[in-house]
Amino acid sequence: MNEYQNIKLDVERSKTRAMIEMRCPQCRQGKMFKYANWRVDKFDEMYDNCPVCGLHFEVEPGFWYGAMFVSYGFSVAILAIMGIVIYWGFNDPSVLGYIIPIPIVSLIAVPFNFRMSRSVFLHLFGFVKYKPEQTA
Ligand SMILES: [Zn+2]
Repeated sequence: MNEYQNIKLDVERSKTRAMIEMRCPQCRQGKMFKYANWRVDKFDEMYDNCPVCGLHFEVEPGFWYGAMFVSYGFSVAILAIMGIVIYWGFNDPSVLGYIIPIPIVSLIAVPFNFRMSRSVFLHLFGFVKYKPEQTA
C-alpha cells in the first residue's frame, strides 16, 4: 500500500505530458523517479517498478543504454543553442568565451538531461501500451 493507490486523477495525461512529467508510460500516473527534480544529489534514483501499476521500467535488460543516444541529442542541442546565444548575444567572443561556459551549462544540465532522456526513450522506444485501467 502506498500513497499513489488511493489517488484517482480526473484528468488523463497525454503521452507528451506524461513524458515531460516523467510518468509511467503504461498508467501515466506513477512517477519514474523517486525524488523531485530539484534534488540534484539524487537525480539518478528511480523506481524499479511503477508505484501505481507495477510496470518494470527497464523493459528489457540494458534498456537504459539506449537513453544515452537521446541524452547525446540533448547535449548536442545544448551545445548548439549555447553556441548561437554566445555568438549573437555576446558578439562572438574569443574561443575561451565558448570553451568555458558551454561545458559548465552542460554539467548543470546533467540531472535534467539524464532524467528526460530516460523518460523520452521509455515513452518513444519502450513500446509500452497505455492502459488507463491499470490505475484503478
Ligand atoms: Zn504505471
